[in-house]
Amino acid sequence: MTGKTHLIGGLTAGIAAQYFADYHAQDLLFLASCTAGALVPDICHGGSKIGRKLPVLSHLIRILFGHRTVTHSLLFMVALGAILSSTPLPAGITAGILIGIASHLLLDAATARGIALLWPLNLKIRLPIYTHTGGLFEQILMALMVVLVGYIGFQMYVV
Ligand SMILES: [Zn+2]
Repeated sequence: MTGKTHLIGGLTAGIAAQYFADYHAQDLLFLASCTAGALVPDICHGGSKIGRKLPVLSHLIRILFGHRTVTHSLLFMVALGAILSSTPLPAGITAGILIGIASHLLLDAATARGIALLWPLNLKIRLPIYTHTGGLFEQILMALMVVLVGYIGFQMYVV
């Protein structure tokens, strides 16, 4: 999926978590964390939004592990969650980043290449319905997420 789709995906996951879990602590910080977290796994890709910001780290991860391996795994989420939990960051930021990462993994699992969710096992996980990055299905999915964010946001903050 493209960076734009992941940004919208992270925001959608965050606002859905707020709506369904009735979580309203630090609303904007939480949503910003979800959106930023959704970009983190593609640090392994030098052309990604985060890869361009941190080229040395991106290159190092790609050389050591390859693309869509360690940073697209459950192990990465657990390890990053443990690291972030041991810092003085507010719990809402840590939760938001992890929710954003989870949204990223779900969206990338809906691509033809799938993800190495169980890395270091060399097993690609792909959803039964999938698309190619930038394809029509991705654009329809992105439009649906924008509508969902608008609908839930309206319900939560306007009504
Ligand atoms: Zn990815």
